[in-house]
Amino acid sequence: MVDVVESFNCANCGAPLKIKKGETVIVCDYCGSTNSLKANKTFVIKHSWMPNKLSREEALKRAREWMRSSMLMPPGIENSEITKAELIYIPLWVFETENKTRYSGSSLRSGEKKVSGIEEKKLFWKVLGRRQSAFPVREYKVPLTTKVPFSIEEAMDGQMLNGELDEEEAKSVARQEIAAHMKTLLEETVDRFDSCETETSFGESEFLHVPVWFLEFNYRGKPYKLLIEGTNGEVLKGEIPPSDFLGGEMKLIMGIAAALILFVACGFLALMFLR
Ligand SMILES: [Zn+2]
Repeated sequence: MVDVVESFNCANCGAPLKIKKGETVIVCDYCGSTNSLKANKTFVIKHSWMPNKLSREEALKRAREWMRSSMLMPPGIENSEITKAELIYIPLWVFETENKTRYSGSSLRSGEKKVSGIEEKKLFWKVLGRRQSAFPVREYKVPLTTKVPFSIEEAMDGQMLNGELDEEEAKSVARQEIAAHMKTLLEETVDRFDSCETETSFGESEFLHVPVWFLEFNYRGKPYKLLIEGTNGEVLKGEIPPSDFLGGEMKLIMGIAAALILFVACGFLALMFLR
């Protein structure tokens, strides 16, 4: 069930835009322009993307390789049925930022010592264009070298997800996240903060779509998710089913119990001989 809101037209070609509830950055189905909705008007923004390079077969092959890649995998996982493989273009805001953090506080490493200063850092910051998604945006290394201007004719192989955060909203998310990030970096030297203020200035910003294969597989009757990047085949996130309890963990517990019994028995014997 799709909840379509009022109608808007593309600011470039005039075609009606298909907008779902909550979406504010919309790719036109006809001309591929990216429209941002603001004050009930549409205007075109710069849009880039990374074309998908991974066919469905290659994505499934990568999934099998991942399943065989580690000793941590539960037995038989490589034979799991892959029940879903869907290519989705995820919207991302990418910002060039310059940041300045003024801080003061105390270091407690070798006696209490007052510390203060200014920390400056240039950062590329990514913000997911959706409010809710399982996409691991922090860990994701955007392969920016494969970035090209968006073309609607070529982007027909997957589902294009529109943005729910407009540029201003995404910048405000970036500001908060960067402030937290800068503070975490400073925790290397500051144990207690009296103040910590970060000022962020934004340079270039970009709205990007990145290809991700969303896979689902079944292991012993339960579904698990696997996300594979479409430009380089990297596994972005994979749910590993828990190992059989009677297999791995139970052996460990039995081992510890046996060691404890042996320990107590030795102590007992030692006491007998020392008496
Ligand atoms: Zn258009």
